[in-house]
Amino acid sequence: MSDKPPYIGRFAPSPTGPLHFGSLYTALASYLQARSNQGLWRLRIDDLDIPRNKHGAADSILKTLDAFGLHWDDAVVYQSQTRDIYQDILDQLAKDQLIYPCTCSRKDVAAVYSGVCRDKQTQPEAPYSWRIKTDQRKVSFTDDLQGLVCQNLAGQGDFILKRRDQIIAYQFAVVVDDDLQQVNHIVRGYDLLEATPRQIYLQQVLGLATPSYMHVPLIIDGHGYKLSKQTLATAVDAKHAQAIIFELLTLLRQNPPKALQQVTLTEQLSWAVANWNPAGLTGCREIRREDG
Ligand code: GLU
Ligand code: ZN
Repeated sequence: MSDKPPYIGRFAPSPTGPLHFGSLYTALASYLQARSNQGLWRLRIDDLDIPRNKHGAADSILKTLDAFGLHWDDAVVYQSQTRDIYQDILDQLAKDQLIYPCTCSRKDVAAVYSGVCRDKQTQPEAPYSWRIKTDQRKVSFTDDLQGLVCQNLAGQGDFILKRRDQIIAYQFAVVVDDDLQQVNHIVRGYDLLEATPRQIYLQQVLGLATPSYMHVPLIIDGHGYKLSKQTLATAVDAKHAQAIIFELLTLLRQNPPKALQQVTLTEQLSWAVANWNPAGLTGCREIRREDG
């Protein structure tokens, strides 16, 4: 008997708009990777960035995933419900002098933060953020698709864990929440690859395990733009679920047989789980959707 821990994956959309083709692509990859490893697939709504949240978006995302047959395990977790835990960890980090208040505004900060506030002894009165001290360490990991990634943390500077507007920063929240949900395999879009070393650094500082990472390519439209809520990518329409799943499987380089266009959604997904092989995406950063 092996005592390998069970695979626990997740999908963690931000409720900044309805699910579009690009996010469904990532969701499907993450789902197939979990299911083909007999894993759990959990769902978390990353709703901490209140100014960016759109009313009704979380419900609409859940409905869409359901309509596409991407059923998740366990109760949906909302990051906004974890707020006390973040503050407890911040209090401890402050006590240990691993984080410090920074009054610099975004305007004051060059591409890489210089650390000017690091050695100020007094608690500032102006609104401030909390930054974590970083060092010269090299963080490296092997991405399941993108291979070996190495980053010198000094190139990132001391980064923000809690923003001036009191909002917990994404880098910090994602690490805490993936750990709380016992996630050990992360499948997400290529755009988050460069944030991963900072997240691994946080895991090291907090004494948390590092999950495995697989960054799947981003879907770009016919003009070469990434499909995102910013480019107003339109919501996927569950009325065309089978056609969309077929197209997504093609773009995931699964070579679905033509006959898979004619079968039910459930049959499509069981074929996809049984035949899932992400190797065709190795080293791939973006994929063009021809009619997108
Ligand atoms: N909530 C993040 C987003 O929608 C993704 C978080 C993650 O996968 O790490 O971009
Ligand atoms: Zn500062």
